Amino acid sequence: MAVKSVEHRQVIVIGAGPAGSACAQRLSESGIDVLVLERRSVVGNPAQCGECIPNWGEVVGTFLGLDNHQWLKDYFDFPERIRLHRLDNMRVFLPSGKAFHFKLDAFAGHRLQFDGYLADKAVNAGAEIRTMTALKRIQHQRKSNRDVLVTDQGRFSCDYLIDASGSLAHVGRLRHGQDPTFRPEDQVPTIYAQVRGKVPETFDVFLGSVAPSGYAWIIPKGPNFANVGLGVRAGKLKGSLKEHLEKFCSDLGLEILSIGGGWIPMGGPVKQMVDGTTMAVGDAAGLVMPSNGGGISQAIISGCFAAETIVEHLENGTSLDAYEQKVRSCMGKALKNSLRSKNFGYAFLRGDVLTEVILRCLGPIGGIRRAMECEKPLWIV
Ligand SMILES: Cc1cc2nc3c(=O)[nH]c(=O)nc-3n(C[C@H](O)[C@H](O)[C@H](O)COP(=O)(O)OP(=O)(O)OC[C@H]3O[C@@H](n4cnc5c(N)ncnc54)[C@H](O)[C@@H]3O)c2cc1C
Repeated sequence: MAVKSVEHRQVIVIGAGPAGSACAQRLSESGIDVLVLERRSVVGNPAQCGECIPNWGEVVGTFLGLDNHQWLKDYFDFPERIRLHRLDNMRVFLPSGKAFHFKLDAFAGHRLQFDGYLADKAVNAGAEIRTMTALKRIQHQRKSNRDVLVTDQGRFSCDYLIDASGSLAHVGRLRHGQDPTFRPEDQVPTIYAQVRGKVPETFDVFLGSVAPSGYAWIIPKGPNFANVGLGVRAGKLKGSLKEHLEKFCSDLGLEILSIGGGWIPMGGPVKQMVDGTTMAVGDAAGLVMPSNGGGISQAIISGCFAAETIVEHLENGTSLDAYEQKVRSCMGKALKNSLRSKNFGYAFLRGDVLTEVILRCLGPIGGIRRAMECEKPLWIV
């Protein structure tokens, strides 16, 4: 019987989202051989995102120890062509329509172009990206003591494996099933629509029965265009999310052009990001902010940190566990604060009346802003 060949590469990255592309670029720039396996035929398509992309100012304002990280600073210097609309302000609406305003340092982008731009940079740095190649199984070969990655386009092995496969963490799932040590928890179903009509200038968030244990949003992308979405804790909304979104858009007089959706892991970081020579990055490591659903910057930062750790491991034997320490010391505090705010919302923001009363008390003293900006909640200060 013919033995199926196994292609060996130094690093294999599963997934060409922001985490995978940032990691691949950083590794390739250090002369490391990288192959990215991406199941989609076009990187970033379909987009599954509200498309609010943070600027560097927002990133250094939220996370610790990044001020002098020149590589990341340069990475976040995105070209004008992918910046569709400045997002300088956010408004959070209570059920009554009363709003609280905050500053923001972000922009609305086009996620398909954004992911394509990041992937191109990785390729220009020397990484190889193979699309239409989905990881299906991981086989442990006892004789050679190695893992073989079985895809629909062939079999692979590697010295280091990066799980950048997004919220469902395919590597963690294939190796450990439902074990929450390696899989992000509290997957929140989210749906969004590209809409046309009279849209606001600001990033608007709506709390209350419109999105129980979650929120609805409008992110303007330019004159008359916006991204409108709804993320709700699983099982909390009766009926289909799509129907609720359609009603929300119709109440606002907005015409739906297209609809998409996805899962956002809102349970905080996985308990273990490093598993032997495998590192989980981005959503696969549960690095989304539970109180606002943002995960693009953490995906990029963690992808970069995983790559830097591999480089240091090869150069001076640094333990791969240093990756997780770096992630936790940079973003652990913000993620913890954000998780506390989300848990507070799950526990107390029930029904429009209670939500209104609580947020009317917390809003003026900065409670809502703190939750959105992932600062320590007021009730813990
Ligand atoms: C509806 C929605 C709205 C959001 N809005 C925002 C927002 O406005 N701002 C923000 O900052 N964040 C937002 N997020 C979160 C943000 O999209 C993620 O945090 C971010 O994309 C994480 O990047 P990643 O590279 O870790 O994963 P992803 O971007 O999910 O990339 C994972 C990649 O892995 C590939 N893949 C998966 N499985 C396999 C496999 N078996 N084999 C090969 N390839 C595979 C996928 O095709 C995908 O390309 C939103 C999320 C959703 C679902």
